[in-house]
Amino acid sequence: MHRHDEDAEGLTRAVVRYAIDRVRMQSPPLDGPVSPAELRRRAGETITDDGIGGDEALRIFSDVLAPACISIDHPRFLSFVPAAPTEAAVLFDLVVGASSIYGGSWLEGGGAIYAENETLAWIARLAGMPKSTGGVFVSGGTAGNLSALLAARHQWRRLADGRLDRARGLIVASKGAHSSVAQAARAMDADVALCDADERGRLSGDAVRALVDGLDEDDLERLFAIVATAGTTNAGVVDDLAGAADVAAENGVWFHVDGAYGAAALAAPSVREHFVGIERSDSLILDPHKWLFAPFDACALLYRDPEAGRAAHTQQAEYLDVLHPVAEPGQEPGPWNASDFAHHLTRRARGLPLWFSLATHGTRAYEEAVETTLRVVREGADVIRGADHLELIMEPELSILLFRRTGWDAEQYQQWSDRMLAEQIAFVTPTKWGDETVLRLCVVNPLTTVDDIELLVEMLA
Ligand SMILES: *Cc1c(COP(=O)(O)O)cnc(C)c1O
Repeated sequence: MHRHDEDAEGLTRAVVRYAIDRVRMQSPPLDGPVSPAELRRRAGETITDDGIGGDEALRIFSDVLAPACISIDHPRFLSFVPAAPTEAAVLFDLVVGASSIYGGSWLEGGGAIYAENETLAWIARLAGMPKSTGGVFVSGGTAGNLSALLAARHQWRRLADGRLDRARGLIVASKGAHSSVAQAARAMDADVALCDADERGRLSGDAVRALVDGLDEDDLERLFAIVATAGTTNAGVVDDLAGAADVAAENGVWFHVDGAYGAAALAAPSVREHFVGIERSDSLILDPHKWLFAPFDACALLYRDPEAGRAAHTQQAEYLDVLHPVAEPGQEPGPWNASDFAHHLTRRARGLPLWFSLATHGTRAYEEAVETTLRVVREGADVIRGADHLELIMEPELSILLFRRTGWDAEQYQQWSDRMLAEQIAFVTPTKWGDETVLRLCVVNPLTTVDDIELLVEMLA
């Protein structure tokens, strides 16, 4: 199976053909979930002693398995955070796999890491972070938040010279922070103090200050990071980043910004003002697989001082010493081993699909694509405002619309959502705003149009 013979050639063509046909689809079938029993009935046993053959495996994937996965790039997939990878990025993902690149060390993957670092530098420039900023692509925002907070805690303990090595750390975050922040704290056995958010779900500098000022001396000493969100997942609002940065600076605490969803809008001049203060972050994450048109899975993790990330994450072992030549005094730090900047070792060079698409199309195309989604959301807000049966809950700040269908209870929202998917019209799931069930549309796909939103508004009548 490692030799390239005639059969392998045929299969290569069939698989690449399939990938090309799929990436070309502008509006793929939405598809939907299928029960395990039904999948067993349709797909049967696929792992056998002698193999079922590539043609049959590909047939089962395309006829049975793929249709049991919702197409997240469908223009009316507006739940959660959709994805809209460019053709260039998706096709290059095939190349990354084909190239057998070990993306962990400069020794093995320097060429790939060079290109990934150029991409990270573009994001750092958009954020206004200093030139020395650097980091690595990890699998997603959850991994990015954990790695950044591990670096924050490492620095807090290091600065205490051993005094706090056994102390349990404390993180301050907002009630609107993503669930992965609490999950990181659980993994680290740290505590989270949750700060009240304002009526739009934003963290204000005053609220962080009140919470931090109210901590007793022990808790203040345990505080190692303040986390702000640049684009909350539920409402798409940006915290008062400058206010949170002030409180972090006053207390000598690490400032982490979670921009997994929203920081992509740094590329869009029309909303750039919301992000003032992001340039002061000690660490920042942004998921290109959300709103920067990269395929799954990619999260850009940036450190203002990359050495803080390296100190926390570098793994030591006899067989790894060769990757870490000791720098001579006065020389640059050692080679940029991408593994050293997060909680991982072996890694796919998962920043390359974004790099290739960005190099192909240029940054202006990214600016325009993000602005397109923002425009559709603003026009969509007008459509919702003009509909008697709907009420906009707030003006959109980024690309999320939150609104209610007057008179509906939770069950009616769910039934409507199920019907939209069953009829292959759209995938829109309800969310909660406070205690109330409401609807949420998240637009990150430049192929989503105002007509799509108008169609949904009609369907809600
Ligand atoms: C999506 C999201 C995350 C988690 O990212 P994954 O890539 O799903 O792990 C974290 N923070 C925010 C604000 C998000 O929107």
